[in-house]
Amino acid sequence: MLVSITGIKKFAVHDGDGIRTTVFFKGCTLKCKWCHNPETISFLPQIGYYSHKCILCGACADICENHKIIDGKHIFDRKNCTACKKCVKVCLPHALEFYGENADTDEIIKILFEDKEFYEASGGGITISGGECLMQPEACSVILKRMKNGGINTAVDTCGMVPFENIEKVIDYTDVFLYDIKAIDDSVHKKCTGSSNKIILQNLKKIDEYGKSIEIRIPFVPDYNDQEIEKIAYFISNLKNIVKIRILPYHDYAHSKYSAIDMQDTLPCKIPDFESIENAKKTFLKYGVLCPIL
Ligand code: SF4
Ligand code: SF4
Repeated sequence: MLVSITGIKKFAVHDGDGIRTTVFFKGCTLKCKWCHNPETISFLPQIGYYSHKCILCGACADICENHKIIDGKHIFDRKNCTACKKCVKVCLPHALEFYGENADTDEIIKILFEDKEFYEASGGGITISGGECLMQPEACSVILKRMKNGGINTAVDTCGMVPFENIEKVIDYTDVFLYDIKAIDDSVHKKCTGSSNKIILQNLKKIDEYGKSIEIRIPFVPDYNDQEIEKIAYFISNLKNIVKIRILPYHDYAHSKYSAIDMQDTLPCKIPDFESIENAKKTFLKYGVLCPIL
């Protein structure tokens, strides 16, 4: 089965417990202002152009008229680009990147099994992430089932903005859900992500009722959702199967990715300071839920 991905990362240490291999699916149902993987938002394949890596060799211009070198500058006209990937293949310095590979699930599974001994030694496993991986639920299910049957721990990293039927397709093959909460106030959620949070919070409650382990992940973004922490802590205090709470302090490292794919840069300016992160952690403790980790 084919699945659209942006990459596979080995030795990942922030996508669940232990050492993991993470598969990043392409396409997301939310559009968070602070997204640090904007190449995973569109469901369509995209070409990224990284000007700082371009040596102006002209190899791309030789094979496609969408690229031109004019007056020592590289010009990329995307409007007729069919994402055929030919230019990426001839760009030796990797100034051109392709996002949206159609990968075969059998090939992905083979790669995931390669590091089984590292997973076992570190208490790790594999993670399916995105984008929103559960918008390609059949492929997720095929991969997760094979991993589970092979004795490997499985995690699904989701924003939750999917029909619950999609979650049902993977729930029995998933050891832990890494589940994002961005805001409880719906208007704040809409402002931050472009969508309502109703389905997200409903799905979270259903997964909890099902008895699955859940790691809650909270992007912490000053002036966007920092006033939501207390509400999130209260909401979580009513759930039964939370095994971990992770605060993800916002960083602004992704500017170059927005410009590479010619996408409007929506990254917020303000980075959270140490004190505000500590206060957020204390708020969770006040509600008697687990101490958050970073
Ligand atoms: S992906 Fe294909 S069509 Fe698009 S710029 Fe590259 S070679 Fe041209
Ligand atoms: S092939 Fe790559 S390095 Fe060469 S001009 Fe094109 S983008 Fe730049």
